Amino acid sequence: MKIVVLPGDGIGPETMAATLEVLDAASARFNLGLEYDHDVAGHDSLQRHGATVTPALLEKVKAADGLMLGPMATYDFKDEAKGEINPSKFFRKELDLYANIRPSRTYKGLTHRAASDFDLVVVRENTEGFYADRNIESGGSEMLITPDVVVSLRRITRLCCERIARSAFELAMTRKKHVSIVHKANVLKIGDGMFIDMCHQVAKEFPEVQVDDFIVDAMMAHVVRAPQRFDVIVTTNMFGDILSDLTAELSGSLGLGGSLNAGREHAMGQAAHGSAPDIAGQDIANPFSLILSAAQLLGWHGQRKNQPAFLAAAHAMDEALVAAVQAGEVTRDVGGNLGTAATGRAFAQRLLKA
Ligand code: NAD
Repeated sequence: MKIVVLPGDGIGPETMAATLEVLDAASARFNLGLEYDHDVAGHDSLQRHGATVTPALLEKVKAADGLMLGPMATYDFKDEAKGEINPSKFFRKELDLYANIRPSRTYKGLTHRAASDFDLVVVRENTEGFYADRNIESGGSEMLITPDVVVSLRRITRLCCERIARSAFELAMTRKKHVSIVHKANVLKIGDGMFIDMCHQVAKEFPEVQVDDFIVDAMMAHVVRAPQRFDVIVTTNMFGDILSDLTAELSGSLGLGGSLNAGREHAMGQAAHGSAPDIAGQDIANPFSLILSAAQLLGWHGQRKNQPAFLAAAHAMDEALVAAVQAGEVTRDVGGNLGTAATGRAFAQRLLKA
C-alpha cells in the first residue's frame, strides 16, 4: 500500500511523525509492506510552490492507495487566486470523498465529559451542504451582495443524500444496527426534507436496521445527556462537522476523534481537529486522532482490496489504543504526562509486542 503523507501545519508535523512510527510498527507486525511518499501541503507548499496544493500533488495522490493529511491552518487560506486553497476541501472535492466517517467512544481509564460510556460514529456528508468552497462547480457560493449583505448558498442533492445514507446503513450493519438521522427539516423543509426522504428510502434495503430521526438542535441535548443511545448518526455536512467535534470532546478530547474521508476510489485519513497553533511545537499535542484515522485508512484499504492483514492491523491499532489509555500512556489533554513523540513511541512498541 502506497500512502502519500502530507504532515500539515501547526501540530501536524509532530502528530504525523508519531503516526508514522505507529504505521511502521503495524506494517512490520502484519507484513503490510507500507510505502510512504512524503510531500507537502498548506503553508510549506505555499512557500515552496506558490500554492497550498498543486495539480501535480493531486495526480500523485490519485495514483497512490491512500492519503494521510495532517491538520491544515485553513483559516489562514483566504484567497484562492494567491494559491491559498483549503487542502481539505481540495482533496474532498477532487477525489469525491463524500463520506466523512468520524467515530467517537469513551475509554476505560480515561476521564470523559459524557453522562455515560458510549461508542458511536458520525457519518457526515462531505461534498456539498453549506460549504461554500465546494458546493458549486466554479467560484464560491458565498456572495457579498452589498458591503452589508451576504448570501451563502447550501446545496443538497438526491445523489449525495442517497450515497451518504448508504454508507451509514452499511456501517450500521457491521455495528449495532441502529441509524439516527439528524436534520433541520422543520426549517430547511425542502433540502433536509429530501435528506430524510432519501435516508428512509435507503433504509428499506436494510430492514434489520432500526431508524430514528432528530432535529439537530435537540440532538445536541440528547448526545450530551445520553450518548449511549446512539450507534451510527447520519447527517449533512455542517451539522456533522459540529456534532462530531462535540462527540470527540465528550469522549475526553478533540484529540481523540478519528476521521476518514472516503469515496469509491480514494480515501484520506485526517485528524478531526485543526492545526492547534496554540500548542504547536511544544510536543504536547495528542496524536491519537491522526493514529485512529490511519487505522481507519488501513481498514478501508483492507475492505476494498479484500486483504485481511490490513483489517487485522486496523483492529490491532484500535485495541492498542484502548490498552495505551488504560496504561496511562497518553498526553496531558487526557490526563497523562507523555509528550506527543513519546506517546507515539509507546503506542508503536505496544503494537509490536502484542
Ligand atoms: P483546533 O481544532 O485546531 O483547536 C481547538 C482546540 O482544541 C485548541 O485549544 C487546541 O489546542 C485543541 N486541540 C486540537 N487538537 C488537539 C490535539 N491533537 N491535542 C490536544 N489538543 C488539541 O481549532 P482552531 O484553533 O479553531 O483552528 C486552528 C486552525 O485549524 C484554523 O486555521 C482552522 O481553520 C484549522 N482547522 C483545520 C481543520 C482540518 O484541517 N481538518 C479542522 C478544523 C480547523
